[in-house]
Amino acid sequence: MPQLPTADPYLPGHGDPSYAVLHYDLDLGYVPDGNRLTGTAVLDLLVREPTSRLVLDLAHLRATKMRLDGAGIRKWSARDHRLVLQLDRDVAAGAELQLTVVYGGSPRPLVDRRHGDAGWEELEDGVIVAAQPHGAPTWFPCNDRPDDKATYRVTVTAPAGYTAVANGDLVAHHRRASVESRTWVMDRPMATYLATVQIGRYTTTEHDPRTRTIGPPDLDLAGSFDQQPAMLAFFERIFGPYPFDAYAAVVTDDDLEIPLESQSLSTFGRNFCSTDWSRVRLIAHELAHQWYGNAVTLRHWRDIWLHEGFACYAEWLWSEESGGPRSCDAWARHHHERLAGLDQDLLLADPGPELMFDDRVYKRGALALHALRICVGDEAFFDVLRGWAASRAGESVTTEDFLAFASERTGVDVAALLRPWLYDAALPALPRG
Ligand SMILES: [Zn+2]
Repeated sequence: MPQLPTADPYLPGHGDPSYAVLHYDLDLGYVPDGNRLTGTAVLDLLVREPTSRLVLDLAHLRATKMRLDGAGIRKWSARDHRLVLQLDRDVAAGAELQLTVVYGGSPRPLVDRRHGDAGWEELEDGVIVAAQPHGAPTWFPCNDRPDDKATYRVTVTAPAGYTAVANGDLVAHHRRASVESRTWVMDRPMATYLATVQIGRYTTTEHDPRTRTIGPPDLDLAGSFDQQPAMLAFFERIFGPYPFDAYAAVVTDDDLEIPLESQSLSTFGRNFCSTDWSRVRLIAHELAHQWYGNAVTLRHWRDIWLHEGFACYAEWLWSEESGGPRSCDAWARHHHERLAGLDQDLLLADPGPELMFDDRVYKRGALALHALRICVGDEAFFDVLRGWAASRAGESVTTEDFLAFASERTGVDVAALLRPWLYDAALPALPRG
């Protein structure tokens, strides 16, 4: 059997480099009782390399019908969480195709040897989708590569009483006797792993016109999620304009071990309704990902520090701004001392798939930014952060792109300055402020 493609070596068996998806239109029906999902996905594709085959990612769900540009497809097969479509002709680069997939089944997380579970997950009474890095195929047929950004329109029909939340703006909400459907539109480019659906018996608390918390009605948001407008205002001051229209924290009735960012919303467990710094820091962290990770997204998973280092640094900045436990510099020195006592066997700019979410990627990434700030000064440093977010929003980027951008913006050889942090295993000394 011919080999199926891999787009990113950190995620073997996902993604097809021969085409891009420009837009996903997903029409989903979900019944929590029995965990049944049905869907029709319409994908607008752009062919990038001449091909006679298209490979999509779809895990645990069964495609029942497919059409390409309106014509039924007979030659397709499913294996290894992929849908393989054999076309009856060669398609040239530049061709635009519309593929429709009718599918359904009982969605569940996809387990990966290195990354654990990700994707569609049943809660006590509802659903979360936490797809980073490999869970997108658990709920829709996709080209599962971090560098293939598309716009989305997602309609979810669920039993009345359940609120279904997806990325972007709510553009339609219909109630019929026993079901409710909501349509959400994300018109800014989005990576597959950042697409999400959250379903629960939720109400919405508007903190201000741009920030809201969606969750069970009895949540106490004081001192935790009600801080989001202040966080957003602070981050806009230092990172530049918020890159999407609005932001939602979805808080599930269940406790969740770790929160997760999606584009324009993040997911937390009920246990994050707490004024404890260990919780509040992650509310700031997930919000900061909207600039660094979601608007500006890595091209390759090896560059994950461009997301996690930045979001971790945002925690330290918020600590200082909000009168939290330590100043930003004190956090940096605290974590530098900790990291100095740990194994130094990790390359920040290519940690390997097993270590890509290792805590050292987060802390060392933030320390590299702190080292840059000390060397170029506050004004130039925050100008780099703002310029990076503004100029690369919607794009896919690499570590080398960041080094080139920061060097050009500051007139300092940032590549030389940060290379030991990024490409050497030994932890560099933190410059004195
Ligand atoms: Zn993060």
